[in-house]
Amino acid sequence: MANQTQKTIIVTGASSGIGQGIAIAFGRQGANVVVNYHGDEEGAQSTLDQLIAAGGQGFIHQADVSKEEEVKALFARTKQKYQTLDVLINNAGIQKDSSFANMSLDEWNKVISTNLTGHFLCAREAIQEFEYKNASGAKGVAIGNIIFISSVHDLIPWAGHVNYASSKGGLLMLMKSLALEVAPKKIRVNAISPGAIATDINEEVWSDEESRKKLIELIPYQRIGEPEDVAKVAVWLAGEDSDYITGTTIYVDGGMTLYPGFVDNG
Ligand code: NAD
Repeated sequence: MANQTQKTIIVTGASSGIGQGIAIAFGRQGANVVVNYHGDEEGAQSTLDQLIAAGGQGFIHQADVSKEEEVKALFARTKQKYQTLDVLINNAGIQKDSSFANMSLDEWNKVISTNLTGHFLCAREAIQEFEYKNASGAKGVAIGNIIFISSVHDLIPWAGHVNYASSKGGLLMLMKSLALEVAPKKIRVNAISPGAIATDINEEVWSDEESRKKLIELIPYQRIGEPEDVAKVAVWLAGEDSDYITGTTIYVDGGMTLYPGFVDNG
């Protein structure tokens, strides 16, 4: 695997779960990792401590990804400290579950503004920096990389979660259209869509024995994923070994997108 040493990476929503796992995995590669968090400073500090212990360096930075000025400040501080940016991991995301008839406008707006608009705002800052780097016409491998952490629900409809599925479905076209637009500038844009990964976002499902059993029925590979399953793919997808991949989604889902109901002939 190509090494990420000397690279500068921003991971949004890195105080817990998948974002934390990804930040630590980049730390293991010796990278500069900017640990963005929203409210959980202690969690962010723990991520930073672990990635430094693993061989990386970095800092924590509070920003709500849905707020334009806060996103701009996050990228400005990164540039000030490390001169440039190489990889953006757009990971921050939330769920606000409700039946459709009862979904409030606030539940709709909160999810769209974090999961979709927040990813747009961060990607735009990253693209501006990458285009600046490419002003002299880069040759060779990509000069910048964006990875969206989406979900299997960019493909699988999800009753009771229309706001979440809409945000992830929107991310699919955001990722692909942006990948097309910036490929000639040697910028790569991809997504990772996790299936069920044990984190805070779905704790009530994996921590209860009955719901855990029901969840496993949806996973042909018969186990719930860990943040590390996603993190390893993110490191590879941001590295030179995957340089010819852009505009693609990698499903890290133990086969959840394989129509598991058909495992016994339908
Ligand atoms: P998590 O709740 O542990 O992580 C989400 C992170 O996003 C948290 O650290 C949270 O503080 C942060 N965040 C929320 N709103 C934010 C904001 N406005 N600004 C900045 N940060 C904000 O859950 P997770 O499972 O690690 O989720 C990470 C990503 O993975 C999300 O985009 C989620 O949709 C996606 N995902 C998770 C699963 C899963 O099974 N865990 C499956 C598919 C997709």
